[in-house]
Amino acid sequence: MPLPTRRAVGRRQVVAIGTIATGGDGWFSSDAQRWYDCVWGTTGAREASRYVDSETGVCFQVQRYATHDGPGIRTTVFLKGCPLACPWCHNPEGRGEAPELHLLPDRCIACGSCVAVCPTPPDRPAGAVGSPEADFFTAPRPGCIRCGACVEACPTEARRMVGRVVTVAELLDQVERDRPFYEVSGGGVTFSGGEPMQQSSFLIACLAGCGERGLHAAVDTCGYAEPAKLLAVARLARLILYDLKTLDEGRHRAATGVPVEPILHNLQALDGTDVEVWIRVPLIPGVNDDDTSLRTLGQFIRSLRRIRRVHLLPYHQTGSPKYERMRLTYNLTGMEPPTSARVAAAAEGLAGFGLDVRIGG
Ligand code: SF4
Ligand code: SF4
Repeated sequence: MPLPTRRAVGRRQVVAIGTIATGGDGWFSSDAQRWYDCVWGTTGAREASRYVDSETGVCFQVQRYATHDGPGIRTTVFLKGCPLACPWCHNPEGRGEAPELHLLPDRCIACGSCVAVCPTPPDRPAGAVGSPEADFFTAPRPGCIRCGACVEACPTEARRMVGRVVTVAELLDQVERDRPFYEVSGGGVTFSGGEPMQQSSFLIACLAGCGERGLHAAVDTCGYAEPAKLLAVARLARLILYDLKTLDEGRHRAATGVPVEPILHNLQALDGTDVEVWIRVPLIPGVNDDDTSLRTLGQFIRSLRRIRRVHLLPYHQTGSPKYERMRLTYNLTGMEPPTSARVAAAAEGLAGFGLDVRIGG
């Protein structure tokens, strides 16, 4: 059965996608749960996975001319779905697995076009206090099935679908348009997210396609994935960008909602292969920027057989406006990014373990 894209789905061709998954029980999750429940209701959990297989996936952004996600000029493909809930995440729209309806109420001119095309019945009669039409301009209708009809109808782009179903061929054709840039710069494509391993069968098919087309392919992963699937990905990728936050189990769970042990185990497994791996360490005040945390990180990476390259990514707040748009609380408001002196000292400390440390992506 052909899968629907936003363009293909109209008022009379409604397809329910279901409820997106939430992250773990970290700092973010209760807010995330409220958001997800508010937008999509609580039924049909994880139905989004029906859209992900070896031929189709859900992508929420394709960024051209990326220069921080691997060597050379690259196209970064952002796939939806992430099992972690890091409060510093700058792509919160990538957490859920399914396409999402996002609203920008300040663009709304109350024309009513969205109400007219919506196939989902209102939960209250028109004219009631807090009429459903007025609510509709600033919030998805309860029971919204993400058909996209209101997005097509909106003249001001006050409604947007974040994420669309794509095929492997469609995605790689798009990526391949910038092949000349990859060839002159030694670049290629990087699959990121969200967490691309959440769509592992689609990712594997994309990587195989990159191999057939002669495209350098990198995968940016948090490492929280089934080991066999990660190793299958590593056999097809040319480079793995591997996020490592902290080795402290309590801090890792509190910050991300998941244990760190599987992530360390997977990194050791990758170290036993011959795929190139660059470790990426987000430097987060209060999570891993103290001397003890950095020393533990350095010792662990040093214990690996061959992986030595480390990229320090200082915390920044550029993603925080997205939280407001998604009606989520940005829990790190007021947290200052580490000073350049602190970043330099952290880099120097890690380099003391014989690591090849770079600052930035
Ligand atoms: S709110 Fe928009 S996306 Fe949701 S069911 Fe109505 S028309 Fe479709
Ligand atoms: S179609 Fe767009 S501008 Fe018109 S009422 Fe709906 S959200 Fe507002």
